Amino acid sequence: MSKKERFENMFFKQIQQHGDNFSYILADENTKEAAVVDSSFNATELIRIIKTNNFKLKYVINTHGHSDHTAGNVELQSIFRAKIVAHKLSKVNFDIPVVDEDMLNVGKVAIKVLYTPGHTVDSICLLMDNEKLLTGDTLFVGECGRTDLPGGNPKSMYDSLLNKLSMLDDSIEVYPGHDYGPKPSSTIGEEKKKNYTLKPRSLEDFIEFMSQP
Ligand SMILES: [Zn+2]
Repeated sequence: MSKKERFENMFFKQIQQHGDNFSYILADENTKEAAVVDSSFNATELIRIIKTNNFKLKYVINTHGHSDHTAGNVELQSIFRAKIVAHKLSKVNFDIPVVDEDMLNVGKVAIKVLYTPGHTVDSICLLMDNEKLLTGDTLFVGECGRTDLPGGNPKSMYDSLLNKLSMLDDSIEVYPGHDYGPKPSSTIGEEKKKNYTLKPRSLEDFIEFMSQP
């Protein structure tokens, strides 16, 4: 099956029900297998969508362990018996630990794990069919995640942003974990042009930049 055909059968929706956290649901429309990325405070709407579409929820994937991203995990897991997926260093109560470059399959949708520490030690981004990147609190539209919380590390964030995410194709769409920017999604190419945190600079300059209030 070609990539184009696969994409046409992918259900993808960004959800913002309560607060500024985004949740995402993706599914293979043929097999009905589905995954949620960051349950957050959006479980009610996620459950409605899953039931309406007769989706079979396979995974609840956490971009990192902060509670505003995992708040709906237990509810989704108890209703649908989905497996909780998180980076192996996460303190989330996970079923499936993942590391950099692991692949998860939801029907014919291929999800690649990119390990992107910096905001937290367990932060991951999820690349779906090499077309959509779910960035959690690593990269926002026009901004990046803070590195001054416990587990945060500006040097790791530099590597994740400048040496990893910036190397991806410009055409890849960016879907962040919070509605902090002027619009809810972007592309790698657009962020490389407009997002001041992706501006090429030395590690020393970046650490200095991140330490500014
Ligand atoms: Zn966070």
